Amino acid sequence: MLKLEDSYIHKGQRRSLIDLLKKRGIAHEGVLEAMNTLPRHFFFDSALAQHAYEDKAFPIGEGQTISQPYTVAFQTSLLDISPGDKVLEIGTGSGYQAGILYLMGAKVHSIEFNKHLFEKTKKFLTKLGIRIKQHHGDGSLGLPDKAPFDKIIVTAGAPVVPKALLHQLAVGGKMVIPVGDRDTQEMLCLTKKSSKNILKESYDSFSFVPLLGENGWNPSAR
Ligand code: SAM
Repeated sequence: MLKLEDSYIHKGQRRSLIDLLKKRGIAHEGVLEAMNTLPRHFFFDSALAQHAYEDKAFPIGEGQTISQPYTVAFQTSLLDISPGDKVLEIGTGSGYQAGILYLMGAKVHSIEFNKHLFEKTKKFLTKLGIRIKQHHGDGSLGLPDKAPFDKIIVTAGAPVVPKALLHQLAVGGKMVIPVGDRDTQEMLCLTKKSSKNILKESYDSFSFVPLLGENGWNPSAR
């Protein structure tokens, strides 16, 4: 079990990571500040914790990953969080992305498909004092009971934009979602101008683990 200790070495490594993210084009002050505050190494197994401030994705068990810091920074910048925004995250994983949203003042609902990860992360975020609502289930269907959401972030690669998620987005809201095949996805930012008018902006390619479930990929297909 990793000790929750944030030493001056960790803080220095975190500042270097922030400098790297700035060099890579991340300019959103709120995102950089939250990522400089939240110790990413807390979200790692002790065997991998020494790598926590490399700009890379790492395994978190159950065949899943904690996203690369650049990816977290890129998606969160596109979401353009304002304090008080009601946000739905699909794919809680380690809880790191949810923690960043929480530190930026969002009211976060996060849903995870994998029961083991859901339970582990629920306990862990509670221990860290990160107060978000965690749900277990198929996030490709969204959370109709809690809709509408000001912002939706999907942290797994989707084959298409699930219509259910677009329905659950508030007018004026934004959804950031990687869409493509199982290996590579294009980052999309969808702004709901009105119930019938969606502005779609496309960004670079990324490589996420697949979004499973009814509006995602079939877990047994490859
Ligand atoms: N946001 C996470 C973090 O900060 O650690 C990283 C997410 S990881 C790249 C993708 C996550 O999406 C995995 O934990 C996976 O189990 C989850 N996932 C895949 N399909 C899902 C679905 N339909 N609903 C909810 N979670 C899903």
